[in-house]
Amino acid sequence: MREKLVFEISEKDRVGVSLPRCDIPEEEPERLIPERYLRKELPLPELSEPEIVRHFTRLSQLNYAVDTGFYPLGSCTMKYNPKVNEEIASLPGLARLHPYQPEELCQGALRLMYKLGEYLAQIGGMDAVTLQPAAGAHGELTGMLIIRAYFQSKGQKRHKVIIPDSAHGTNPASAALCGYQAVEVKSDERGCVDVVELNKLVDENVAAIMLTNPNTLGLFEENILEIADIVHRAGGLLYCDGANLNALLGVARPGDMGFDLLHFNLHKTFSTPHGGGGPGSGPLGVKKTLAPFLPIPLVVKQDKCYLLDYNCPLSIGSVKSFYGNFGVLVKAYAYLLSLGPEGLRQVAENAVLNANYLVKRLKDHYCLPYDRICKHEFVLSGARQKKRGIRALDIAKRLIDYGFHPPTIYFPLIVNEALMIEPTETESRQTLDRFAEALIKIAQEDVETLKSAPHHTPVGRLDEVAAARKPDLRWKG
Ligand SMILES: *Cc1c(COP(=O)(O)O)cnc(C)c1O
Repeated sequence: MREKLVFEISEKDRVGVSLPRCDIPEEEPERLIPERYLRKELPLPELSEPEIVRHFTRLSQLNYAVDTGFYPLGSCTMKYNPKVNEEIASLPGLARLHPYQPEELCQGALRLMYKLGEYLAQIGGMDAVTLQPAAGAHGELTGMLIIRAYFQSKGQKRHKVIIPDSAHGTNPASAALCGYQAVEVKSDERGCVDVVELNKLVDENVAAIMLTNPNTLGLFEENILEIADIVHRAGGLLYCDGANLNALLGVARPGDMGFDLLHFNLHKTFSTPHGGGGPGSGPLGVKKTLAPFLPIPLVVKQDKCYLLDYNCPLSIGSVKSFYGNFGVLVKAYAYLLSLGPEGLRQVAENAVLNANYLVKRLKDHYCLPYDRICKHEFVLSGARQKKRGIRALDIAKRLIDYGFHPPTIYFPLIVNEALMIEPTETESRQTLDRFAEALIKIAQEDVETLKSAPHHTPVGRLDEVAAARKPDLRWKG
């Protein structure tokens, strides 16, 4: 199974190209290039074309991909993204546009951005949208800058942002980057914001609360209307981390729950594959009062034309070169058009149904800390297994042997030995059953088998810290 390094299969003087004979006199390099610039030996691998094709194809086959198997990481990392959206984003009229092309020559692209902004606003219950931020965290940063500008314009000095203990790490980071003090609010026994605690924390120094809804436990914030009331009464704003929007599409809108700002992770919910570090997009929607602070330029419509508007005196400025990651916007637009309102609602309903189906199948075999209807994802705890010396990491590694990508583990931080599972809307009952059966089998396996897993992969347990800290990338000839 082990694929040798390309240097190890190299044979001296083997070539992968055939070029016509040189028809001008050849010179020795020494006569043309000064001695000190001459490289004595160029250690490049020497291979034939089929050898190189096979080498890289075999390497690619060692990879686990959403196109080859099930990913319980869900929309947050790798839900299945229909290929048609890739096709559309690569149409030459869209893919080869130059960002400096004059507005009158890219009306189609501007219209696409304008419409996408309108659709997102409608889906989230917001009034205006910027498409500029390049990721969710970047949307958070943009939102925090807008909140700061808003309070500055009102002459208010608020310095706190409240964030639940279940939040994604980017939330406190974004608040802190804008000079805010991140204040943690505890979760209650139902996995939601503890409203009694929240009441104690909210005062005139609070600029905003940042919530993910449904939260990272996959649970809907049941008291969201009351929370919105508490924060608004103190003059604060509500920021929604929209990373989990997959659960709400076409069913409920953060804007209707009282949120004033909301970011969309187009690369999570709206059809851009990521998880390999590819470009993302984190548009930010805001309510009317915050719209004047949005980044420039904004795409506006005048008569029948689309224009880029830079004339926004209260704007926080640009947060990204040009207009955001346009290719990702195209995929999201194509995805929305292909689904339509009904299809979008089905995405959320099926995502929630699939998650609850897995909960039912697994809850007798693993500890389920919050035993209630979940949204698009749920979190199991490996606490029971830990008593036998088995860690969440061992369970995750063993899943690889059964042909599945492991789920997120050790997040959210408030669940001991967390296994966070998000099946998404596209998976069939059969796939979910196979996955559940693998996890049930693992729950019954002995310590020895689990501790040494995976057994059926080219490499077993790696020292992941050493691999990250001391990568061995050099060819040692
Ligand atoms: C993914 C995620 C983020 C950050 O979004 P990026 O697009 O990765 O920057 C923030 N919050 C939650 C809950 C997330 O899942």
